[in-house]
Amino acid sequence: MTKIYDLHCHSTASDGALSPRELVARAAENAVTTLALTDHDTVAGLAEAKIHADLVSIRLINGIEISVQWEKQCLHIVGLNIDPEHETLQKVILDSQVMRQERAEKIALKLEKKGILGALLAIQKEVGDGMITRTHFAAFLVSHCHVATPQEAFDRYLGDGKAAFVSTTWTPLETAVQAIRASGGIPVVAHPLRYKLTATRMRKLLGAFKNMGGQAIEVVTGRYNPDEMRILANYANQFELAGSVGSDFHSPTNQWLELGRVAALPDNVKPVWELWQ
Ligand code: AMP
Ligand code: MN
Ligand code: MN
Ligand code: MN
Repeated sequence: MTKIYDLHCHSTASDGALSPRELVARAAENAVTTLALTDHDTVAGLAEAKIHADLVSIRLINGIEISVQWEKQCLHIVGLNIDPEHETLQKVILDSQVMRQERAEKIALKLEKKGILGALLAIQKEVGDGMITRTHFAAFLVSHCHVATPQEAFDRYLGDGKAAFVSTTWTPLETAVQAIRASGGIPVVAHPLRYKLTATRMRKLLGAFKNMGGQAIEVVTGRYNPDEMRILANYANQFELAGSVGSDFHSPTNQWLELGRVAALPDNVKPVWELWQ
């Protein structure tokens, strides 16, 4: 049987549309054999996902996607095969959660100054204990007819430098990498091409990441084309990093990006799953 890995996706514990249980059911429908749930700055969905993954014989890898800071740049680091209970990692997660909550309050205030009222209360009601992300603000702005699409919400309000943008000093990259390692997990640079770094800065990042204990980069994500995958495969090999594969699935309404529908990892790249098998 061919194995299908999807090592990056989101549930309602952060900004995904499906509960952990529904997400695992969808993974089973799509013949995924190994799934990592990687919610933004929370491990709250992992227990429910594990119960249902066991029932459908999917191997569940405990994961997370942590927002970090590297030289004034916000990056996303996926931790794979983490111990979600580990004290050092828990501390980093808690810090991120406090930052997210404070940022959400500030975003809501900025929206109120633009005459858009009630966003935070509505979002809090919807997410409960889950992480508040800009995805939730974008959905609120769409459902309350302030914008037509989530993209427009980012372009007008939520994106870098826009009317309701709040700059945040996230956990330093090194702190997150070390916490993931301390918990027995593998630090992975998520979607490396989405940060629009120059080649020089990308090499600086990957060199620093490797020196800190980083072990992998995503070479295949839901949105990369073959040329981009080749570039990333070269970076992985140049910096002796393993390659990961993840759709970054958030919602069934995004028809361009489906759980488990990811290209195969290029042959010349060391698969990240060899690090835990
Ligand atoms: P946050 O981590 O709260 O800053 O939110 C970032 C999340 O917003 C990402 O994980 C994406 O799911 C989503 N996102 C970022 N940019 C866009 C965009 N241009 N359109 C729609 N969703 C976006
Ligand atoms: Mn997201
Ligand atoms: Mn991300
Ligand atoms: Mn993600």
